[in-house]
Amino acid sequence: MSTLTEMRLLSNKMKITVHPEKLERFSKKRVGFYLKYASFVFRTLRRPSFQEFLSWMLRKENIEENMLRDVEVRVLPFKKKNGNGLAGNCNTGNGKIQIYPRTLKFCRKFMEQSGRDRFTSYVGIRARAALIHELLHLKYASDEEKVRQLTQEYFAVFTQNRPTPNSHMSSVYSMIFKPKATENTPAC
Ligand SMILES: [Zn+2]
Repeated sequence: MSTLTEMRLLSNKMKITVHPEKLERFSKKRVGFYLKYASFVFRTLRRPSFQEFLSWMLRKENIEENMLRDVEVRVLPFKKKNGNGLAGNCNTGNGKIQIYPRTLKFCRKFMEQSGRDRFTSYVGIRARAALIHELLHLKYASDEEKVRQLTQEYFAVFTQNRPTPNSHMSSVYSMIFKPKATENTPAC
């Protein structure tokens, strides 16, 4: 299979999803924010440079195309019972992956402290790392340690191959992967 075909296959499996009844609980402004967030993540993840990288990674890991059913970019955040946010989730049984946003509260605080540019970088990096992480779960299932280690390695490969490295990239990257970061490595 050519890389282009693989790219299209992966890209076609991605969609933005929301449960409309849940949106009713939020204010218009909040819904607007989350919709913008989701569409930014969706565009970021579907960029040809990233799709090409993912195709290469899936091939290298021998993760078959049919192991993945779809990737949902969820509009609303997911909160675990312990209060921590969730970056992504992978159901290895049915091959469904979800990518979740940060809460509006977190985003506001981040923007106030670090500015809009750094926030935008953070959102893009978090979503890419989450998708790499969840795709690896398709193969390594519940071996969280292995998945985390490989996520870091593959993310580093992707970052190094970028033609114009983002100046915020390394600081935001270390924030996401640092063991004692505000958020753990995207996990499920
Ligand atoms: Zn995980």
